[in-house]
Amino acid sequence: LAHLGILGGGQLAQMLALAALPLGVRVTVLEPDAQAPARRCADHIHAPYTDPAGLDALAACDAVTLEFENVPVAALDALRGRVPVRPGAGLLDRSKHRAREKQALRAAGARTAPFVVIEDAAALQGALRAVGGHGILKTSELGYDGRGQRRVASDHDLGTAWEGLGGVPCVLEGLVPFEREVSLGVARTPDGRVAFGPLVENVHRDGILRTSVFPAEVPDGVEAAAREQARAVADAWGLEGLMTLEFFQLPGGELLVNEVAPRVHNSGHLTQDGGGISQFEAQVRAVLGRPITDWRPLHPCAMVNVVGVAGPDGTPLESDWAGIDALEGTHVHLYHKDWRAGRKLGHVNLVAPDTALLRARLTSLEALVP
Ligand code: ATP
Ligand code: MG
Ligand code: MG
Repeated sequence: LAHLGILGGGQLAQMLALAALPLGVRVTVLEPDAQAPARRCADHIHAPYTDPAGLDALAACDAVTLEFENVPVAALDALRGRVPVRPGAGLLDRSKHRAREKQALRAAGARTAPFVVIEDAAALQGALRAVGGHGILKTSELGYDGRGQRRVASDHDLGTAWEGLGGVPCVLEGLVPFEREVSLGVARTPDGRVAFGPLVENVHRDGILRTSVFPAEVPDGVEAAAREQARAVADAWGLEGLMTLEFFQLPGGELLVNEVAPRVHNSGHLTQDGGGISQFEAQVRAVLGRPITDWRPLHPCAMVNVVGVAGPDGTPLESDWAGIDALEGTHVHLYHKDWRAGRKLGHVNLVAPDTALLRARLTSLEALVP
């Protein structure tokens, strides 16, 4: 039996563990939150990420992976030389910091939106013009689900936005007039073999992923181009494990990389039910150095996120669970988390034998999830 350690015990760890168990893989998660979703399907070490006994337990595993990028550097340092951590510290250092990430993407030959790194107030001067006059200011660290971002259309906006974000290091990106957003997972084994997930189309609402659909309806050549950029970044960054690239697809078909997650991604959840292996199985196998294959689903499929939404009086709006169960092709995945506005609580995957039926069922499903 192999033994996999995971830094973090949220829903991604829950789903990694659920994929690992039937492969004969025992899972231990290190996670400070007592209510962590993964605690029900893995050995849960309930301690800070830097806890020496917790890190000893991870060091006894065959390999360690992670479900989020903001693991303290001290935890990674403590594991160095004792157990393979995949992806490794160098890749994590880039993917958790927008400025370093964008620079490293460019160095790997990937394309990005125009950007200016804002380290201090002096850097604001002329920055908006340099990115095209309309931009999004994003904190370099700790942003997710659109938190830590402000749209700006004037130098005055930019100054206000930077102060509003706390005057911390930021990246100002040019606003990209994209036609659609797509994402792609890439896995790479320690000996350099590469495999890909599906190209998925993503629709966001209020900065949070709402719906993902496979296959993405992109012009010819776009999937191959996405794979080419993903492979270039995976090779240049020495990926061990799995990472996911988010792209903007421009009207001409050109792809810009928005950001990289050093792990499975919300947009890949539909691979749980589309036939074939899931992104979670792909990450587990890649991290343990087992053979990997592409994990593109066999059937058209989609995912709708279940996010905490409050009604006009502030009380939670519930999804119509009976209606979801009654709709053909649905698979419910809940994370056993307490309700909070804006929090991801679960997702519903949807499959269909063809894309026309998938679209019709997706319209029905979206009406059942607030
Ligand atoms: P997450 O990590 O949860 O995906 P995040 O907080 O890191 O989100 P981004 O992915 O950078 O944020 O941005 C969230 C969304 O905002 C994007 O998916 C896209 O819809 C929009 N967006 C971000 N940057 C740009 C841009 N430069 N031009 C146009 N739209 C953008
Ligand atoms: Mg992000
Ligand atoms: Mg994103």
